[in-house]
Amino acid sequence: MNITLPPLPYAVDALEPHLSRRTLSVHHGNHHAAYVAKTRALISTPPESTALEDVVRSSAGQNEPLFNASAQAWNHAFLWQSMRPGGGGEARGAIAEAIEESFGSQRVFSQQFVSAAGDQFGSGWAWLVLENEKLQIVATSNAGTPLTTAQRPLLTIDVWEHAYYLDYQHRRLDYIAAFLGHLVNWDFANQNLERHRAARPPTSANRSLAASSAAT
Ligand code: FE
Repeated sequence: MNITLPPLPYAVDALEPHLSRRTLSVHHGNHHAAYVAKTRALISTPPESTALEDVVRSSAGQNEPLFNASAQAWNHAFLWQSMRPGGGGEARGAIAEAIEESFGSQRVFSQQFVSAAGDQFGSGWAWLVLENEKLQIVATSNAGTPLTTAQRPLLTIDVWEHAYYLDYQHRRLDYIAAFLGHLVNWDFANQNLERHRAARPPTSANRSLAASSAAT
């Protein structure tokens, strides 16, 4: 991903009434734009030929201001795609099967997602990630991101107050319910799941299978 502000993948009012034009306008046009501008200002390489993901990974634990700006730039680009107009409701396709395998049911998944997002103290994010073939829900504080771990992100919700305060004030749980009920983009989660499964390193089981089929 380039170090530029990506356009919203839908109109600025397309998530109404669940997230207002005003929230998206400020969140994308001011908060996200500022993280991108700060990242560009802090790096020493040309932003046009530098991958944002590389900046996030190389600054983690090394350069806190650059990590905070670049991880927030990446997290927000991922966030916009995690929502869509007319989204929400039951998961479909491969992600639905993976949720049932990993959590037992979509209801249990929803309960755990609400807990992770609702219980995050202060600013942060909740994520659905793939790790070791299983789905997990994790929360990160401030600019924290699974990009610096072995976890592969599938979906995220921003629980910084700027993400919902204009529309929901202190009612973070109502915002999380609107996200799950009306906004979450299961197509995006399915695309990420397919991509990460295709890119995974071979396990010992399928390595030996490959070796034995190569020998015959
Ligand atoms: Fe945000």
